[in-house]
Formats: sequence, structure tokens, C-alpha cells
Amino acid sequence: MNILVINAGSSSLKYQLLNPETQQVLAKGLCERIGIDGKFTYKPEGKTAIKEADVAMPTHNEAIKAVLDALVDPANGVIGSMKEIDAVGHRVVHGGEKFAKSVLITDEVMAAIEECNPLAPLHNPANIIGIKACQSLMPGTPMVAVFDTAFHQTMPPAAYMYALPYEYYEKDKVRRYGFHGTSHKYVTQRASAMLGKPIEQMKLISCHLGNGSSIAAVDGGKSIDTSMGFTPLAGLPMGTRCGDIDAGILQYLMNKYGMDIDKMLNVLNKKSGVEGLSCVSSDFRDLENAAAEGNEKAELAQKKFAYEVRKYVGAYAAAMGGVDAVIFTAGVGENDKAIRAMVCQGLDFMGLKLDEAANDVRGKEAVISAADSKVKALLIPTNEELMIAIDTAELAK
Ligand code: ADP
Repeated sequence: MNILVINAGSSSLKYQLLNPETQQVLAKGLCERIGIDGKFTYKPEGKTAIKEADVAMPTHNEAIKAVLDALVDPANGVIGSMKEIDAVGHRVVHGGEKFAKSVLITDEVMAAIEECNPLAPLHNPANIIGIKACQSLMPGTPMVAVFDTAFHQTMPPAAYMYALPYEYYEKDKVRRYGFHGTSHKYVTQRASAMLGKPIEQMKLISCHLGNGSSIAAVDGGKSIDTSMGFTPLAGLPMGTRCGDIDAGILQYLMNKYGMDIDKMLNVLNKKSGVEGLSCVSSDFRDLENAAAEGNEKAELAQKKFAYEVRKYVGAYAAAMGGVDAVIFTAGVGENDKAIRAMVCQGLDFMGLKLDEAANDVRGKEAVISAADSKVKALLIPTNEELMIAIDTAELAK
């Protein structure tokens, strides 16, 4: 079964054609500058790749058309015809409270996704455009929506409610939703497979540490708490996002510098995090290099980040009444052994002991805790596309 996975943004679109049963990726790539001019990148398995070719993409329709044309191209295509695409899986950022799992897309589902637009005004409308473009070019092919928020819909009210007047929840749906659900779901399932224990019997803490970062407490395979909130601004400090801060700071800074709320949010989303703190970069590789050269702010940013991750690990162990394994994933989690070591520092008291030699690893599944560590530490590369393809294949059958 071949599944086309689409992750549509406002001006870009990532795609992957894969077989979820064999896990073989037939081709993947990226359309960029949609609505501007159009750049097309295509990487087929065992054939000639295309890198940033000029392809006119006034709308997402031309972008999807370029993808389909490349996939069936007689010379560099990977399938004979579009009939060999059995279903399309779409990443959708926000499913609100309506979607607790992936769904086959119908007219009613489209309307319900559109109703979630105000909750993710930058992302959901772009996801919808991607779905509509595929529907028009591939009529009759089943489409599935896979939501970033769905995995966290199992959180209990004590975890998802904010201590605000109740009416803001009832009338306005203000609550914690959480994101990166597809990634947290994938890596926790892999953790269960790696350790050979049914997920129903496991308490897991999943640390998705990338440019955007979030942590989830997953008890018996269900998310019971997560660090991102109503928006992906909450929780950990990130590349350029501040994470949790005292809301009182907004009033103080806005009054002092005459900023309106848009300017303030721009600072919190784009100029804060480890970049804001280090005055160096949002990229952890740059922080490491700068810290090695003695840059104290870069070192502080690394320490702040690791400290906040460690605090969440402790908090979520308490929330679940124990933990079997802590998982590291995404760009930083998969590649940065120094950050992993800093996070695990001092966690011996709760039975987590890192093995320094085992931690000297990048980008592949590994147990990185000591043999006698009661709580395991795991490195598990995330694979959101595969998770989307698995859900899509199941629903399209
Ligand atoms: P996104 O949230 O955009 O999906 P990723 O999960 O791809 O982000 O993570 C990207 C981040 O991973 C980069 O900004 C960088 O900080 C970090 N990263 C990537 N490679 C390394 C590395 N070798 N060492 C440390 N950090 C890395």
C-alpha cells in the first residue's frame, strides 16, 4: 500500500510517498515559495533527484500537481500511475476537542476542521488548502486527516484546564491542547517495542526537543499531560519561543516600550527562547560552539533549556506516580548528547542513570541509560510521516 503524506504550510508543502507496511520511502521532497514563484525539490529512491527547481506555483494546486507529475514521471518517477497511490494522509495542526484520533475526510470533517481555524489561524487554513488541492487533483482517492492535537485529547481536565474563569473554556474553548502528538505517539509506541513491554503497562516521558519542543507524560499509551498549551508557545523554552513565562511580564513590557499585543507576541514567538537568551542563535549546534569558546550567555541558554526539561521530567514522573523510561527525540534530542547528559544530571535519585558511552550516539534507536538504571533513557528518532501513513492506511482500508 502506498500512502502519500502531505504536510501543507502557508507557502510550503512537504511530501513523502511511503509504504507503511515495509516502511519503504519511495520518494520525498518539498515545495517552497508557493504563491511567490515556486521551488520544487524531489528525492526519489534510486533515481535522479531534483533540487530547488523553478516550477511556477501560484497556488497549492500547482505544487501538488508538480509532486504527482514527478512521482509518475517515466524517467524519474517511482510509480506507474496515480492509481498506485492508495490514500493521502494530511497533517492537520489543530483538531480542537472534536478530534481525538485520525479520521477519513468527509464534507462534515472538513467543516469541523474549518471550525478549528481560530485556534490555529496560521496553520489550519494552510492544511485545508492542501487537502482541497489534493481532492481536486485526486478525486476518489481516500484522504485522511491526522491531527497534532489528537493524541493529547486523553488528558484529564485537571491537566488541560487553566485556572481562568470557567466561561472562557465553555464559551471560547480556552484550554491546554498540546501539539507534536503524532511524534509523541510514534516514539512511545517504539519505546514499548524496544523494551518489549506492552504500552498499556508503561509510564513514559517523551521529550520532543527540536526547534519547537514539548514533553508529554504518557501513561498506559495515553497522554495525560503535555507542556505545550492553548498554543505551541507554552512549556519549554525553544529555539525562538519563550515557553512558560509570567503573564504579568506582558503588561510591564508593553507599557514600558509602547508595544501592542502583536509586537509583544512577535518577541515571545520569534525573538525569545535560546536565541533571545544567548544572543547567538536558535540552533543548538551554534550554542555548543559558542559555549565551547567561552560565551557565557550561550552556556546559560543551554543550561536553562536542560534545566526546564529536567523539571518537566520530575513533574511528569510525579504526575504519573513513576516512570519506566524517558525518551529523547527530534533534532536536539536525537543529536545533542551534551543536552541529554545535562537533562539527566542529578536524576539518580529517581532511578535514572545515564551511561556516558552509550549516550555517545546520534540519530538511531538506542538505550542510553546504564545497565542498572531502574528508569531507562532512550534515544528514538521520530518519524511523523510513518505514523501518519500508518493511521492513513488503517482508515483507508
Ligand atoms: P523542527 O521543530 O523544525 O522540526 P527539528 O526537530 O528538525 O526541528 O530540530 C531542529 C534543531 O535540531 C536545530 O535547530 C538544531 O538546534 C538541532 N540540531 C540538529 N542537529 C544537531 C546536532 N548535530 N547537534 C545539536 N543540535 C542539533
